[in-house]
Amino acid sequence: MTAFVSPAAIALWGKVVSSGPVAFGPILLSGDTGGLCLRQRQDQSAVPAPLRSVPLDGLRALSQSDASGRFRPNKASPNLVGGWIHFAADASALDAALEALLPGGLEDWYSVEKGSTRPIPWQQYADRQTGMYRHVAAMNDPEAEEVARAGCHSRCCTRRRMWTVGENPPEIADGKSCVPCLEPCALLLELARRAQKTNTADERSQIVLTETDLVTLDTLFGMALDNPDVSLREGDMSAPGNPRRILLLREKLLPWLPAKT
Ligand code: SF4
Repeated sequence: MTAFVSPAAIALWGKVVSSGPVAFGPILLSGDTGGLCLRQRQDQSAVPAPLRSVPLDGLRALSQSDASGRFRPNKASPNLVGGWIHFAADASALDAALEALLPGGLEDWYSVEKGSTRPIPWQQYADRQTGMYRHVAAMNDPEAEEVARAGCHSRCCTRRRMWTVGENPPEIADGKSCVPCLEPCALLLELARRAQKTNTADERSQIVLTETDLVTLDTLFGMALDNPDVSLREGDMSAPGNPRRILLLREKLLPWLPAKT
């Protein structure tokens, strides 16, 4: 009896073979003699020799923690550890490797390729929340857009956001990957909860900043994001130094910042 091979894996295999390397979440897929190679995207230019060859049963462990040993709640985060390479001999092996590194990513990609799925818009998702998350539905569109831009920033996630907020189109894939995001994840929801709570409860302050102050502030944002506090958990949105919190504050100040991007 012939073993079942997922049509999604066959389609992705064909895409890499016919079109060349593909960024799939935090993973780079590239053709190799007799199969495909998987590695961290940041190891794109590394020749295979210095990379450690990891078998299938070692991939799931790789996906669990970042280089500092912190748990990775979002397997599509760019903080997947590097320095390894995995060889997949056929589409079935590719399927198994991706399931270990980025569960659900292949199915989501294929459902969008086939046009058989529809992303869930923010408001629809927010309206069905209950318990401690029920208030996120009260955020207005500009507030929800800030949360989406900060929480789904390419520094935090390699999935391409296809769900919409307000009237805005889905995210452009620049800096992301072909793996889609079809509805907000738990990390985004928690950031939204915190933003909604502070937007309604916190007292407002007014300060006047000069252009020079704003340049300094933007430099500080960059430094904090480039050198995150490795003692903080990615999912801890109560920590002021959480990169998503920093990105959210930067979103609020963006119209006044020199870069404005
Ligand atoms: S909601 Fe945003 S952060 Fe979460 S998986 Fe989707 S794109 Fe990534």
